[in-house]
Amino acid sequence: MSTVKSKQQITPLLPLSKFNNNQIYIKRDDLFPVSFGGNKARKALLFFDEIDAGNYDAVVTYGSSSSNHCRVVANLAASRNIPCYIVSPKEQSKSTFNSKMMHLCRAEITECSVSAVHNTIEAMIAELVKQTKKPYFIPGGGHGICGTHAYVQCYEEIMEFEKQNNIHFDYIFHASGTGTTQAGLICGQIIHSENRNIIGISIARKNPRGRQIVLDSVCEYLRYKDVPVTPDQIERNTCFVDEYTGKGYGKMNSDIDETIRTMFMSNGIPMDATYTAKAYCGMQQYLKEHQIKNTNILFIHTGGTPLFFDDLERMQ
Ligand SMILES: *Cc1c(COP(=O)(O)O)cnc(C)c1O
Repeated sequence: MSTVKSKQQITPLLPLSKFNNNQIYIKRDDLFPVSFGGNKARKALLFFDEIDAGNYDAVVTYGSSSSNHCRVVANLAASRNIPCYIVSPKEQSKSTFNSKMMHLCRAEITECSVSAVHNTIEAMIAELVKQTKKPYFIPGGGHGICGTHAYVQCYEEIMEFEKQNNIHFDYIFHASGTGTTQAGLICGQIIHSENRNIIGISIARKNPRGRQIVLDSVCEYLRYKDVPVTPDQIERNTCFVDEYTGKGYGKMNSDIDETIRTMFMSNGIPMDATYTAKAYCGMQQYLKEHQIKNTNILFIHTGGTPLFFDDLERMQ
């Protein structure tokens, strides 16, 4: 069997439509070319570079049955023929297209209550070590230095696009969850001394905690890379908007469902209710409420295509 490896992949970036007199562009990270793409694929490939380099022979990670991250990790582990152990909260265990792909890739899924997750992971790693395995732990959602680095690379792709097409994006919007995607974009911006609005639309977390987690990831990465920066610079660059989370994680409403429908009908682009359609909808409200006009706006489509199919079944 061949192995899926990282190689910097440049995803398509296209004009989409006008909104409030702004030109919206979209970067199709959902088309990142492995395992249905998305930000989790972009991040996971870098974690697997470390796994390959360190000759690890087992992978442990965490996520729910609808986790895009777990689907990609299960897939990349399978392509290396190493076992993948997923610790999953039993509160979120209903079958989804993502969980079906985890099973297809023969991931071993251990369910426990949310409160027991930490101990279950520790025990599992200890047991693998006892069996003389060398397990690698990937934090849930691909959180951590590798995950952040993946979005520094994405930021650099955006800069390159701007240079080649003689365009400047005044705003970058995207769905923000664990904050790693946003942290990477912010680090890219700081490293290249650029200045624009990077706006993470929270899909669940509230401030101040949500924003703090982004700030922590930014600091961790810049410290690791020895980039000199003032706390003030980081503060100014970090905008985590928690006003469009609706009823919470994974909860849809009619506006979000309408976004899924029109986005697909008009552009042939799949979006899902948990992440991208919720963020896109939030971006539109933000543009209206802040009366933003006559700018170039980039929306990063962070993936989640299997969730689009779960949404279709729900919307029938
Ligand atoms: C996980 C995920 C996000 C959020 O990314 P973070 O780096 O965790 O903030 C956004 N969109 C999709 C489709 C995701 O799967």
